[in-house]
Amino acid sequence: MGTDSPVITTATPDQLGRKVHDLRLSVTDRCNFRCTYCMPKEIFGHAHPFLPKSEILTFEEMVRISRIFVGLGVGKIRVTGGEPLLRRDLPKLIEMLMAIEGLQDLALTTNGSALASLARPLRQAGLKRITVSLDALDDTVFRAMNDVDFPVERVLAGMEAALDAGFAVIKVNMVVKRGVNEHEILPMARRFSGPQYILRFIEFMDVGNTNRWLMNEVVTASQIIDILHQEFPLESLPATYSGEVARRFRHADGGGEIGIISSVTQPFCSQCSRARVSAEGRLYTCLFASQGHDLRALLRQEPDDAKIAGVISQIWAARNDRYSELRSETTQHAPKVEMSRMGG
Ligand code: SAM
Ligand code: SF4
Ligand code: SF4
Repeated sequence: MGTDSPVITTATPDQLGRKVHDLRLSVTDRCNFRCTYCMPKEIFGHAHPFLPKSEILTFEEMVRISRIFVGLGVGKIRVTGGEPLLRRDLPKLIEMLMAIEGLQDLALTTNGSALASLARPLRQAGLKRITVSLDALDDTVFRAMNDVDFPVERVLAGMEAALDAGFAVIKVNMVVKRGVNEHEILPMARRFSGPQYILRFIEFMDVGNTNRWLMNEVVTASQIIDILHQEFPLESLPATYSGEVARRFRHADGGGEIGIISSVTQPFCSQCSRARVSAEGRLYTCLFASQGHDLRALLRQEPDDAKIAGVISQIWAARNDRYSELRSETTQHAPKVEMSRMGG
């Protein structure tokens, strides 16, 4: 992509033969939404201890760690959070990440609340791929799910602004929760059926320990497909790359693409090539991890990138995570880091 060369020290595959290919980079643990399935407001209230600025990686540190990961084999970075658009000067970070040589793909996941004003600067910074999380078109349902009374029109306006700014395709992520928004599956499929959207339905997951996850609140991938089939004939599409988490479909009439992320009912751990670095610089090798590895201390003390690459490579080589394949009554209550803190 750019000219900022990475250190080349390809990481050894992990204990299950999986190479590191994707990096989720969290830029903040804060969010302006309190989605009930992610940051329930009883827990993430005014007194919640979010990270102080001194504990959050600087842009330079984020770029350095990203460059090291690219040297280890990462081709794709997704910027996330918390809500990444809350991080001041985010377009500047995007520009800096785009300059990393060898990085093939940079994407951003956002709740879309600030996209109306930030879509253009992000596009100008070089970002080409954006995912907007949107759980309902019905304003009442949407406001209840974000739990801060945020109106759906403002997210829709942000998506329009992104298309106007030159993003060719917007991915739309919808978490489906039984009894809450499954009746929004068909309206969402109708609204986002055009070629400029890829709509992805996500099974409600037992991330963290605060969202009171219950299996009977998961609308399974096969139930989602049955609902879609009531109105849309869908054709399966092949995976675009090994490790892709979504099962892909296309409207049989030639419309847009639909994906289903079934991490609860059809886990894809055997293909999982994803590392996560939180805003405070902790490395997590699984979304359901209870512990991370402190890279911030290393970044602040160790001037030699190759040494940091060696430490990450060792951590990756020891990785044997496969939480979703082992999910059970017991694992569900194991201590887990919250998704907003780790980077979703
Ligand atoms: N704030 C940004 C957003 O919402 O897009 C980025 C961070 S958020 C943690 C990343 C993704 O995780 C979102 O698409 C969100 O819907 C999804 N997510 C959060 N909690 C989830 C859960 N319990 N089950 C499934 N997906 C979840
Ligand atoms: Fe915030 Fe995203 Fe979590 Fe919703 S899913 S609370 S928008 S971090
Ligand atoms: Fe990857 Fe962990 Fe999810 Fe399995 S449970 S797919 S190892 S993040």
